[in-house]
Amino acid sequence: YGTAAAIEEPIKPSVSIEHTKLLINGQFVDSVSGKTFPTFDPRTGEVITHVAEGGKEDVDLAVAVARKAFDEGPWPKMTAYERSLVLLRFADLLEKHTEELAKLETWDNGKPYEQALNVELPICVRLIRYYAGWADKIHGLTAQADGPHHVQTLHEPIGVCGQIIPWNFPLLMFVWKVGPALATGNTIVLKTAEQTPLSANFAAKLLLQAGLPDGVLNVISGFGPTAGAPLASHMDVDKLAFTGSTETGKIVQSLAAQSNLKPVTLELGGKSPFIIAADADVDQAVELAHFALFFNQGQCCCAGSRTFVHESIYDEFVSKATARAIKRTVGDPFKAGIEQGPQIDPEQFDKVLSYIKSGNESGATLETGGNRIGSTGYFVEPTVFSNVTDDMKIAKDEIFGPVQSILKFKDLDEVIRRANATRYGLAAGVFTKNIDTANTLTRALRVGTVWVNCFDVFDAAIPFGGYKMSGIGREKGIYSLHNYLQVKAVVEPLKNP
Ligand code: ADP
Repeated sequence: YGTAAAIEEPIKPSVSIEHTKLLINGQFVDSVSGKTFPTFDPRTGEVITHVAEGGKEDVDLAVAVARKAFDEGPWPKMTAYERSLVLLRFADLLEKHTEELAKLETWDNGKPYEQALNVELPICVRLIRYYAGWADKIHGLTAQADGPHHVQTLHEPIGVCGQIIPWNFPLLMFVWKVGPALATGNTIVLKTAEQTPLSANFAAKLLLQAGLPDGVLNVISGFGPTAGAPLASHMDVDKLAFTGSTETGKIVQSLAAQSNLKPVTLELGGKSPFIIAADADVDQAVELAHFALFFNQGQCCCAGSRTFVHESIYDEFVSKATARAIKRTVGDPFKAGIEQGPQIDPEQFDKVLSYIKSGNESGATLETGGNRIGSTGYFVEPTVFSNVTDDMKIAKDEIFGPVQSILKFKDLDEVIRRANATRYGLAAGVFTKNIDTANTLTRALRVGTVWVNCFDVFDAAIPFGGYKMSGIGREKGIYSLHNYLQVKAVVEPLKNP
């Protein structure tokens, strides 16, 4: 691998951490309990800083101010153009502070700095500008009635939105959530993931600077059961949006149902197939399949974690995929040229290693990797298993780590059946030069996104979300707006009394 020991001396990021408190009503405040919790550097396991730990009382306060900001204004009562301008100024500020934000992201999450800086931050900026563009283009319809009535529909904001986000793309998930909710005139209480509270707090501060009125966005750092659950079950929250594991998705949906039946959108786990047809250029396929799985330390809900390869090119593919994984540079994510940093925390690290053990025990062939790197931090060797079969745990469960499983197939009908034989349905990759193969697969795969001869393309306008147990609803694109709007039908006689 790029480095034998993961890191010698961690590079100290040159960024100051200014916001470690809860954002409620435009102020950064301590939690009611006064409690704090540490957030850790995954390179070393050392504490970066302590942040305020929000609990039920803080959620109650935040929901109350979001309620007031919604019911009494100013946010939903401002013109759509004014809301659009706030978002545009926010995008400018994100751009201006890109380096600091990327440093916080890498420090808190462990992802390569170059990836945060050059890929994720520009996507965040673009996404906010995309939603700024929607703010003043939201309107209803007029409809035909059978009788002598004038019928119109108003598309209104839904109200106070609870949003719960994960740790794998802390800032990107923040903008995916707040962008459409703000563009449509809602107010928000957002809970960050306990592993990665830092960048969202910084971004929230920038939104205030951009002119977002107090109380419109409130940010709570804290844990799932103590801060996330009170938000999901709050009687005064009108809508819930969640990104995270399928297991937790079930919990929050049931909390939402048991409380006030708030509508829920969920973006959950996946076990995405990446299908490489017989006609594929093997070198290109290896590179793309490698990216599809290993990007972001394998911590992507849409990771191409079942690499299906046609039998005619299987052996060549396996040997080249192995060589590519061996070449992957692992090390301090702040260092230039590093492709892979540490996993997020000890829990995920142990989980990944236990899946590797399970792969070995179930009879898959370990081609490379399989161990931790170094003795501090949560670095895992890029790992490749061949001869993986559908019944193995590593082919069924979401590993969320740098572990590639390569399966063999003979014909299209077979691979369609096998690719679809999962409870998940988030995404799929198809690699082929044959247009019929591409068309057949794109129609047959039961997933929310099919990337043909590409992967992880995340433009703002492309909807993202899951079939089956990968989720409910779509984020990004025009579809995400529907999650945050109510439709009101207004009916009046053509001739009023
Ligand atoms: P992971 O296991 O990868 O951390 P989770 O789905 O548990 O994924 O976490 C995603 C988000 O859901 C985080 O913000 C987390 O704090 C939150 N969360 C976890 N458990 C609950 C819960 N019981 N209720 C509400 N939110 C939760």
